[in-house]
Amino acid sequence: MNLHCDLHSHSTVSDGTLSPTELILRAHEKEVEVFALTDHDATEGLKEAALAADKVGLNFVPGIELSVTWSHQTIHIVGLGINPDDEILNRGLQVLREFRGRRGEEIALKLEKKGLEKPLEGAKKFANGEILSRTHFARYLVEQGKAKDIRQVFKRYLVKGKPGYVAGKWASLEDALSWIHGAGGIAVIAHPARYKLSSTRLRQLIAEFKELGGLGFEAISGSHSPDEELRMAQLANKFELYVSKGSDFHSPENVYRELGYLPDIPVGSRPLWHSDAWKERIGDFT
Ligand code: AMP
Ligand code: MN
Ligand code: MN
Ligand code: MN
Repeated sequence: MNLHCDLHSHSTVSDGTLSPTELILRAHEKEVEVFALTDHDATEGLKEAALAADKVGLNFVPGIELSVTWSHQTIHIVGLGINPDDEILNRGLQVLREFRGRRGEEIALKLEKKGLEKPLEGAKKFANGEILSRTHFARYLVEQGKAKDIRQVFKRYLVKGKPGYVAGKWASLEDALSWIHGAGGIAVIAHPARYKLSSTRLRQLIAEFKELGGLGFEAISGSHSPDEELRMAQLANKFELYVSKGSDFHSPENVYRELGYLPDIPVGSRPLWHSDAWKERIGDFT
């Protein structure tokens, strides 16, 4: 029942600060048994991570965290057990990255108006590859002394209603699920309590997600409080979704919760790795 797993994490390929190999070594050190790398809108780290995991004997699950716009709101959908080379998925990712590039320019213009110098160049200095994230802007603003930490930067500059905010135009929920399923993966609603959706809207999201063949619900998340975890696990049960868990680890300096340090799936909930889909596509860990 209680597998020591962590099914949500980020590397330097998106907005994390550890390379895929460093991340795998850290997971191994923390005695994680099953580990997924789920970079934002990118699969480039998956081969390196799989090789590193193989060397240390860690069960690795290739994953992704897709940015989705659902009902004017940004939602994240994790895909687990995906084929990194799937063509349709990669074509979709290309579109998301192009939006990231355009949005980065818009964010930079807005921050310049607030007196920041060369914010685009600054953010890019913190980005490793194709993915330009708000986190990279946040790291630059911290470096520039505009706030004490990343969380403060988001609050002051990068969220809705703040000077550097640009609305997301991401994938549709339908496209995201079809890309994940087409690439052989299992879809999971990431950190459901983070969106601050009303209970009606969250139920609506779940209903649409299920209709599209979605299976997992990340009730146990490094960004949830214990109370949120319990409420989200109950909601998963009600909608007959399988519960997933992930730290959403980004960096050793900036932890919601340490990689791998997550509570057990509550009694009465069904862990995602008990699903037939998981057993067929990823392996049997029961
Ligand atoms: P993006 O996909 O570029 O819009 O950036 C989203 C990322 O920013 C998330 O995956 C988090 O890593 C980070 N993020 C979002 N909100 C916050 C926050 N309030 N504090 C710290 N990091 C945040
Ligand atoms: Mn992130
Ligand atoms: Mn997320
Ligand atoms: Mn994440």
